[in-house]
Amino acid sequence: MVKKKVNARFGARYGKRIRAAVLAAESRYAGEKKCPSCSRTSVRRISTGIWKCSKCNVKFASGAYDFGRVAKA
Ligand SMILES: [Zn+2]
Repeated sequence: MVKKKVNARFGARYGKRIRAAVLAAESRYAGEKKCPSCSRTSVRRISTGIWKCSKCNVKFASGAYDFGRVAKA
């Protein structure tokens, strides 16, 4: 089902490996992550490497596609 979505977006273009990589990256940054500041699960990716907690409004610099190690902004 998820594979179908990628095929719909990219058709036969870009190759299998890179389409799989896009899908993997998107699943890594999708959804909400746990906030290191308030401990609630409310951190979303707002841009490349920029993450923000919707509860306490703290912004974090972390991975481009992963919310891992955090530098507080
Ligand atoms: Zn927070």
